[in-house]
Amino acid sequence: MNHKLIIISGPSGVGKGTIVKELLKRDGYALSVSCTTRARRPCEVDGESYFFISKEEFRKKIETGGFLEYSEHFDNYYGTPRDFVEEQLKSHDVILEIEVDGGLSAKQSHPEAILIMVVPPNTEELVSRLHHRGTESEEIIAKRLKRMDYELSKEKYYDYIITNDVLERAVDEIEQIIKTNKK
Ligand code: ADP
Ligand code: 5GP
Repeated sequence: MNHKLIIISGPSGVGKGTIVKELLKRDGYALSVSCTTRARRPCEVDGESYFFISKEEFRKKIETGGFLEYSEHFDNYYGTPRDFVEEQLKSHDVILEIEVDGGLSAKQSHPEAILIMVVPPNTEELVSRLHHRGTESEEIIAKRLKRMDYELSKEKYYDYIITNDVLERAVDEIEQIIKTNKK
C-alpha cells in the first residue's frame, strides 16, 4: 500500500482546519499534530490541536532534528514532529496542515507528497471568515491578512489549487485528488 503525505496549505482563515476536520470524518487518515509556541485558543486542546510548547523547548527540538519541517511566522514557531509522521506513514495517509514555506520544505524531503493549496473565493470572504472565527485580535488578524499575498504567491509550486467556496464540494475535490494519486 502506498501511503501518502498530504500537505494542505493556504492563507489563514481560508478554512484549512475546517476541511481537514471533514476529511478525517470521511476516511481513515492520520493527522499530524504540530508543535507551536503560540498561545492556545480557548477551544483548543493540548495534544489534539497542537502540542503547545515554549520557545526554548522548540529550539531544543530543532537542534536535535526533531522536526520534519518547521517555520517561524506570526511571531511564533510551528513545526511537524518527524517521528510521528514517519511512523504513521507506514500504515496511513498523513495530513499536514501547514503554511507554504513548511509545505515546500516537506516536499523536498518527501517528493512523493501531494501539495494542495486552498484559496478563498475572494479576499472579502477571507476577511469575513477571519473576523467571524473570532479567535484573534484585530492586530493579529491584520498580520495574518498581510501574509495572504505571500502564501498565494507560492500557488505555482503547488500540485493542486482548491477554492473553498462550498465546503462540501472542496472536501469532495480533495478526497478525489487523494484517491487519484493513490491509484
Ligand atoms: P484556517 O484553518 O485556514 O485558518 P478555519 O478552518 O479556522 O481556517 O476557518 C476559518 C473560518 O471560516 C471558520 O469560522 C470556519 O467555520 C469558516 N469556514 C470554513 N470554510 C468555510 C466555507 N466553505 N464557507 C463559509 N465559512 C467557512
Ligand atoms: P494557526 O495559528 O492559525 O493555528 O496557524 C497559523 C499557520 O501556521 C497556518 O497557516 C497553519 O497551516 C500553519 N502551521 C500549523 N502547523 C504548522 C507546522 O507544523 N509547520 C508549519 N510550517 N506551519 C504550520
